[in-house]
Amino acid sequence: MASASEVQQEEIRATKKPFVGNTRKVTAHLTQNESLTFEKSSPGKKAYKLPPLDVPEVDAAAVLGGAVREDAGYLPELSEIEIIRHFTRLSTWNYAIDLGMYPLGSCTMKYNPRVNELVSRLEGIAEAHPYQPEHLSQGALQIIRTLQDCLIEITGMDTITLQPAAGAHGEFTGILLTRAYHQSKGNARKTVLVPDSAHGTNPATAAVVGYKVQNIKSNALGMVDVGALENLVTEDVAALMLTNPSTIGVFESEIHKIADILHAKGALLYMDGANMNALVGKTRPGDFGVDVMHLNLHKTFSTPHGGGGPGSGPVACKAILEPFLPTPVVVEKADGSLSFNYDRPQSVGRVRMFYGNFGMFVRALAYILANGPDGLRQTTEDAVLNANYIRKKLEDVYELPYKTPTLHEVVFSDRRQTQRGVKTGDIAKRLIDYGFHPYTTAFPLIVPGALMIEPTESESKEELDLFIDAMRQVAQEAEENPEVILSAPHSTRISRLDETAAARNPVLRWKPPVGASREE
Ligand SMILES: *Cc1c(COP(=O)(O)O)cnc(C)c1O
Repeated sequence: MASASEVQQEEIRATKKPFVGNTRKVTAHLTQNESLTFEKSSPGKKAYKLPPLDVPEVDAAAVLGGAVREDAGYLPELSEIEIIRHFTRLSTWNYAIDLGMYPLGSCTMKYNPRVNELVSRLEGIAEAHPYQPEHLSQGALQIIRTLQDCLIEITGMDTITLQPAAGAHGEFTGILLTRAYHQSKGNARKTVLVPDSAHGTNPATAAVVGYKVQNIKSNALGMVDVGALENLVTEDVAALMLTNPSTIGVFESEIHKIADILHAKGALLYMDGANMNALVGKTRPGDFGVDVMHLNLHKTFSTPHGGGGPGSGPVACKAILEPFLPTPVVVEKADGSLSFNYDRPQSVGRVRMFYGNFGMFVRALAYILANGPDGLRQTTEDAVLNANYIRKKLEDVYELPYKTPTLHEVVFSDRRQTQRGVKTGDIAKRLIDYGFHPYTTAFPLIVPGALMIEPTESESKEELDLFIDAMRQVAQEAEENPEVILSAPHSTRISRLDETAAARNPVLRWKPPVGASREE
């Protein structure tokens, strides 16, 4: 007898004509219809039962006066199991790192180890309050201090702030430090240089901090053109913001020279460290001339990402920038206890309330300590090996625009497939039918029609082989049956969306039927 899911697969195949079923890893959404909680609601249902009142009843109006809200609006009324099932069914439409590979290039969607979650839920850690007195917070301060020490060691920098809440926020903080540094020397300078391969947040950051952005072209290897740089660096340049390895996964082999050119004119080298997954344990930005950089704990250091966030974007820097770090900073007192120091007259000020996303510090530290130095180095090697395995297994069917050896990610272009009318976005949508999250499409901009793939070290060879199979099948479909790709995905509850309409005219609000009101 066919199982329920086999029957469902069969139904999907029957109703979705162009869907070809010979995929090894198909995932069809379990429930095809799910109404809103408002629509499921029926009056009088509750998901809770309160115990009898055991304190004197208070007249709300007497306490709150005019602030009492008479009409609570139209809220759904459901039993507990209806709510649980509703959200559980919704969750089956999501893709997650716990379901399969998530090859979003540059985003480093690695596995979030369970030990991180275990440690971060320990009562003394999870329940600590940011206003708790320092003498009761020594454990939390020690966690912050130890993580700082580990990240300083890993990056080869002199000091760090854990405050920023994301990578882009770290960039903002790092460029604020740069501006404060130049200002302290009497001139904030005017320009920040950004290569054309940069993440969009780099030029945005420089502009938000008040700098003019000057673009630098990449050379044929996908690296910064050192000659062009030399001509552009003047005493008006505050910094170069450089992603290393770059967004095509290439290590800037002339990074020393780049640092020397900048330093000769008093400019600083900012490194976008979002791609540290390719460097940890192998080389240190502090040793190759970087002055200031951010890390993404939610990328390199395995803390949850996207909907599972929040993020964390620590900024590490050289001693020359230390006076400008956001307040407060952790210091050790004469008696050996730890404390926050707010008395820092040259500080750029706070960039985040309290001390940053502390729960993420705990998870990142758990990851670092669980791996140890050798484990972290192995992680980097595995991430690079996985990306190069995919590169080798796909380079005969997808165009590889830069032949330079790559580290933790590989960028193809859709040039061959566009001859059949199939673009990178179409291939990405078809990949959903094969049970994978799409890779990053159309970025970096220096590769027209980019397919940017980053497997991370999390994936086994078996999962990589399934992915390679799927990508090869899609390439074959592009030759034989492009229509199946152009109308994908076919296995999801909602198939191809009109993305422009979805972005421009989103329907976000449910309106009660005319005349409806909440029944008591
Ligand atoms: C992810 C990323 C950023 C931004 O980090 P967020 O945490 O998403 O703000 C910046 N630069 C590069 C290269 C990235 O990959």
